[in-house]
Amino acid sequence: MAQRLLLRPLVSSSSSLLVPTRETARSFSTVVDIPVIKPTSSVFQDAVQASGPRTNWTREEIAEVYNTPLMELTYASASVHRRFHKPGAIQMCTLMNIKTGGCSEDCSYCAQSSRYNTGLKATKMVNVESVLEAARIAKENGSTRFCMGAAWRDMRGRKTNLKNIKEMVKGVRELGMEACVTLGMIDAEQAKELKESGLTAYNHNVDTSREHYPSVITTRTYDERLATIKNVSEAGIHVCTGGILGLGEKPKDHIGLIHTVATLPTHPESFPVNALVPIKGTPLGDRKPIAFDAILRTIATARLVLPSTIIRLAAGRNTMEEEKQVLCFMAGANAVFTGEKMLTTECNGWDEDREMFERWGLRAMAPHETMQGKQEQEAIAGTVGEAEQKIEAAASL
Ligand code: SF4
Repeated sequence: MAQRLLLRPLVSSSSSLLVPTRETARSFSTVVDIPVIKPTSSVFQDAVQASGPRTNWTREEIAEVYNTPLMELTYASASVHRRFHKPGAIQMCTLMNIKTGGCSEDCSYCAQSSRYNTGLKATKMVNVESVLEAARIAKENGSTRFCMGAAWRDMRGRKTNLKNIKEMVKGVRELGMEACVTLGMIDAEQAKELKESGLTAYNHNVDTSREHYPSVITTRTYDERLATIKNVSEAGIHVCTGGILGLGEKPKDHIGLIHTVATLPTHPESFPVNALVPIKGTPLGDRKPIAFDAILRTIATARLVLPSTIIRLAAGRNTMEEEKQVLCFMAGANAVFTGEKMLTTECNGWDEDREMFERWGLRAMAPHETMQGKQEQEAIAGTVGEAEQKIEAAASL
């Protein structure tokens, strides 16, 4: 008896995803064609077929994407990821704590808050040369972004510190790396100064949804966070803002978190996804880890809603088995923190990451593939183009 083999492609030659309306099912050795899947919503289809980011997402629309069956959601996010990014390229970033502990804020997950007894010793800001030495080592190991974090509420009255940080930024950029800092709240003038020093990106996480936020932090409002993000963006610095999963939030808070960043005037260049690393002595020190499917679902939703943003798999990655990390890369995560430490928590090392990349057909993103690298190439192309136009104009006189 002749058997029928149904091969129904889900991705067209133009890489736009075709949503399946029928499903193949196997009965013994015969493949039969049974219509069982209803067409998915137009919101989901529009997200899958988007040609660029949009900032008018509603919470309901994001919820519809988030609540799509996980296998279908990750398949779709992987397809969108391939359209907007090089799927095998993962940016390696290294994060250095340039000033540890003693922070006056009460973020209930943080080892660096002076309000909790975590055993962490507060230090003064490290010197410029030691930062640049760490950046050189990170570069030699394949990192293309060097991030510097200081445990401060804000930058008020820190003129000397800001001067030194600008030197650090300049030095990191001279090494050909992207430079990112996270220094707490900054005003428009401080943002402008950092931009002038060559800063690529500023990290300021909104952490969670607006509704869940007051259960996590009481010393700084959600709107104060958004004000810093606005100052950064208006200074022309790329925004890195994301969240922490596992703070006792509900799925609707993951939707709320994505909604906050998706409705900023411009989507952030970078969206870090952290999984809580419970620190003894903090109010969240005994929390159980968040289920992996919630992390994967958040990454896949973020990839569909923020198609051109870099999604950074950040704190907590070292607690994930390799296969889970790879699922995150498949669903759309395309940056990691790698090196010796990530602020106060453990981090996967460069060698370990390189070996993992090798096993799974991934690779470290090259400097020219980073956002800063692309911008520099465009600037050069623009200058060359202008020069050519001038020559043509002169020749036609
Ligand atoms: S997360 Fe940042 S602002 Fe909050 S306590 Fe820690 S160092 Fe301070």
